[in-house]
Amino acid sequence: MDQDSLAKLRQQLRAKLNALEHMLAPAFERDPLFPGSVHTSKHRCGKSWCHCADGHSLHEAVRLQIRFHDGLTNRSVSEQEAVFWKPRTEAYRRLRKAAQSIRKWQKEVSQLLERIERARRSVEGLSEEDRKRPLR
Ligand SMILES: [Zn+2]
Repeated sequence: MDQDSLAKLRQQLRAKLNALEHMLAPAFERDPLFPGSVHTSKHRCGKSWCHCADGHSLHEAVRLQIRFHDGLTNRSVSEQEAVFWKPRTEAYRRLRKAAQSIRKWQKEVSQLLERIERARRSVEGLSEEDRKRPLR
């Protein structure tokens, strides 16, 4: 049993535990969330005499992208409506990101547990014969 590396592994596990608390924070928020995103799109209107025709001073439109079960849909929203939707979509994003982080966290912690198991493993008490067989 390698005490040095075991201590290091425990340190890493402790760090993972602290990271978990931080990672789950979005799940403790209380504000409503909404599956979607708010973004600004730039476009030409197609009129040859418009200022947008030069390709530089494009029209801007605020859009709410809604994530329906069966697909994404974009809706135009006013600046005022965007103020309503933005925090909700951001809360959604934070929670989704948390879920993603947790999956990565779980993988890393599983690997740590395996390494800890190996570091703590002892064949003390096993016969010479059994020591020759690889353990699980
Ligand atoms: Zn235009």
